[in-house]
Amino acid sequence: MTFCTSIHCMDGRIQEPIIKYLKKNYSITYVDTITEPGPCKILAENEDKISVNSIIERTKISINRHGSKLIAISGHYDCAGNPCDEEIQKKQIRESVKHLKNNYPEIKIIGLWIDNEWKINNV
Ligand SMILES: [Zn+2]
Repeated sequence: MTFCTSIHCMDGRIQEPIIKYLKKNYSITYVDTITEPGPCKILAENEDKISVNSIIERTKISINRHGSKLIAISGHYDCAGNPCDEEIQKKQIRESVKHLKNNYPEIKIIGLWIDNEWKINNV
């Protein structure tokens, strides 16, 4: 039984692609999901402290109770919660990875971009 943690958008179009991708590529059995509208924007800006803390607290449960060894943070094409273009979102994803590394230095953290064909790309 292997868990990972995925922090991704609430958008219904990305749920299945991202869960399938993580299970297949990282040999994961269960994906704990933490959804917000445009979470890479929330973590990169680090201004909405209530949302940031909520994400961090939920991630902690996944790590401490499920032994998650991998955190994925993603952004996607046509995001209603974060209507920035691809390059800005990728910058936000990289910032979010840094932010999460500060909180969880011992956990592997990856950034993902979900494109206009709902395919997953590493950032
Ligand atoms: Zn979105």
